[in-house]
Amino acid sequence: MNDISYDVVVIGGGHAGCEAAAASARMGVNTALFTHKIETIGEMSCNPAIGGLGKGHLVREIDALDGVMGTVTDKSGIQFRLLNRSRGPAVRGPRTQSDRALYKEHMQKILLNYENLTVIADPVIKFLFDNDKDKIIGFVCESDKQIFCKQLILTTGTFLNGLIHIGQKQIPAGRFNEKPSTGLSEQLEKHNIKLGRLKTGTPPRLDGLTINYDEIEMQAADTEPYFFSFLTNKLNNKQISCGITHTNNEVHKIINDNIHLSAMYSGNIKGVGPRYCPSIEDKIVKFKEKEQHQIFLEPEGLKDNTIYPNGISTSLPEEIQLQMLSKIKGLEQVKMLRAGYAIEYDYVDPRELNPTLETKKIKSLFLAGQINGTTGYEEAAAQGLIAGINAALKIKNEKEFILDRSESYIGVMIDDLITKGVSEPYRMFTSRAEYRLSLRADNADQRLTPLGIKINLVKKIREKSFLDKQKKLTYVYDALQSKLISPNVAAKHSVKIAMDGVKRTGIEVLSQKGVTLDKLRKIWDDVPQFDRIIDEQVEIDAHYSGYLKRQSHDIAAFKKDESIPIPDDIDYSSFSSLSNEIKSKLKLIKPRTLGQALRIDGVTPAAAIILLAFIKKSRYKVSA
Ligand code: FAD
Repeated sequence: MNDISYDVVVIGGGHAGCEAAAASARMGVNTALFTHKIETIGEMSCNPAIGGLGKGHLVREIDALDGVMGTVTDKSGIQFRLLNRSRGPAVRGPRTQSDRALYKEHMQKILLNYENLTVIADPVIKFLFDNDKDKIIGFVCESDKQIFCKQLILTTGTFLNGLIHIGQKQIPAGRFNEKPSTGLSEQLEKHNIKLGRLKTGTPPRLDGLTINYDEIEMQAADTEPYFFSFLTNKLNNKQISCGITHTNNEVHKIINDNIHLSAMYSGNIKGVGPRYCPSIEDKIVKFKEKEQHQIFLEPEGLKDNTIYPNGISTSLPEEIQLQMLSKIKGLEQVKMLRAGYAIEYDYVDPRELNPTLETKKIKSLFLAGQINGTTGYEEAAAQGLIAGINAALKIKNEKEFILDRSESYIGVMIDDLITKGVSEPYRMFTSRAEYRLSLRADNADQRLTPLGIKINLVKKIREKSFLDKQKKLTYVYDALQSKLISPNVAAKHSVKIAMDGVKRTGIEVLSQKGVTLDKLRKIWDDVPQFDRIIDEQVEIDAHYSGYLKRQSHDIAAFKKDESIPIPDDIDYSSFSSLSNEIKSKLKLIKPRTLGQALRIDGVTPAAAIILLAFIKKSRYKVSA
């Protein structure tokens, strides 16, 4: 047997695995990625699209920390759209339809040439533990090779004991035509890691050449694309339009008549599915009053006629799927290339994890992606990034890297997962972030790139580009701060501010509704002008400055609770004044700070006061 060793190994070449491997390697650590096949690295298992509300924010944050997803998305984007464009910048979500083949191609090209990273196609079949059985030290591959590593990141997505359902048919699989991963869940369970079962689904795939587009409404891409990477400055691909059609009463009747044949309604599926991404069966049962449901006909690629009908994921039998399609406008003659299906898989209760995404019970084992109960490429990639960074930091004996809820959507997601666990696949929304006015897609680099630079995660090209942007922003900002104008003079230039006789700085004037830098340059022609991105950033910052001042008080209160640490070895059993329910939750979740303890469901402010009093009294001194 051939023994090989790496500092960090990532298992899985999905979205979490790619980002984890790249992050660890970027930090200068000897890293390897083990996966089933090189050709499926970066595979989009379901819809060929990246971003959206909340999800787009995650990608911008990944990019701000020099991750790979933003760049790959920009290189493969074929329909960029900024969702909620007419609403405030805090809730705008960049999204793009991606060319599925191009996405994989660019991801593979980047990873196969990444410094410090070795990519190997050899599935993992068994973990290796140390003699105490509480630390992972490596694994065995299908080829029988034993691989040793100091830190291991597991990102197996929907593959752990994956089971596909199409009607009454059940096929063990990790996703369509790929075998599942067996044996690993059982080993984790033996080490007291709590697992559960979740499910997700995908629609049938259609032959675009057999769709009648004549009567279908089309939705075009934005004329000015909003990119995911702060480094992208030009469009890579031709932009396409998507079709929009709808279900109707005839379709609903077919589904209702055959609902007992759907894997989800026949009782075959035990796992819980994503509430926010329901199957067409779910929509029809739960929203009986709706006469139609929207379907986006999304092309899977520029050189591919396959269409992804977004909105009709299903686990009905194949022949019923075809019947239902034939009743939809534009799809009367459609050829179904592949049936839709549901998939059930094992996931790990994310309350088993520290905020670094290392498991509490097995040392040196990190988990990231769908395995932690999330759904979505972006959620997976964001976790991969954090796991990759922290595995590398452990190798370097450096302080862990944790983002909190006030700094990023990544921090919100990880805190939600490890503090509350999941009862259904978790996906990101802007509404999950309480400080969303500061956590915008536009300022992800301002928030996070300096943190990445500090831990040597960010490559020189990005560091230079970021510092250059900062310099430009400062020029414009300083120039505006030095200008003063009275309401009367401003009015003469058609800029309306309160007629109170108080002179205001350029920044204060810019914070008013409807005022733009172009308008202000008509008053002060020496305000520096670089490019649209710089102008937009200054305008958005000025516009939000009032709200952010108010929010900064909430953030300060949040940070105060977060700065009160709860020691690892605290014995909750000794708290006679806490209920057994609260004690068992605290024991399970092991909150690291008083703030985190307060976010645990059921932990009341009264319980937090008891906890705080104990911390203060005990040897663990805190500066409250
Ligand atoms: P994956 O992308 O699943 O990648 C897992 C990787 O691990 C693969 O490369 C695999 O080869 C590798 N691997 C597995 N086991 C081993 C092993 N033993 N050894 C080595 N390598 C291994 N998301 C949405 O947001 N909306 C949806 O509607 C949606 N629908 C979905 C429908 C289906 C049918 C599926 C399968 C997924 C769907 N998803 C959806 C989820 C989305 O695909 C995932 O959230 C995302 O891909 C998770 O990324 P990941 O990196 O965690 O795992």
